[in-house]
Amino acid sequence: MTKKDRQIVFDKYNGKCAYCGCELMKGWHADHIEPIVRDSKWNRNKGRFEQTGTCRKPENETLENYNPACASCNIQKNSFTVEQFRINIKQFVNS
Ligand SMILES: [Zn+2]
Repeated sequence: MTKKDRQIVFDKYNGKCAYCGCELMKGWHADHIEPIVRDSKWNRNKGRFEQTGTCRKPENETLENYNPACASCNIQKNSFTVEQFRINIKQFVNS
């Protein structure tokens, strides 16, 4: 993602997190609205999965599919869709 692309994503919500609305700090995340699925394979030497760089849903790799998100929202959203994430947040509020 280029600097210019990041700026476009940043401006989408006037420099605020698309999910919780906080002011974005340095190191904010460009979040995929619809998750893209990256392929990974087991690296036997290192004993862990590694991303192969191939993407199973390249059609989701567009600027329209990015939302600016603060680090904590991005980590919590993980690979959920927006709808699933909202359900998740609701559960935090309830508990
Ligand atoms: Zn946030």
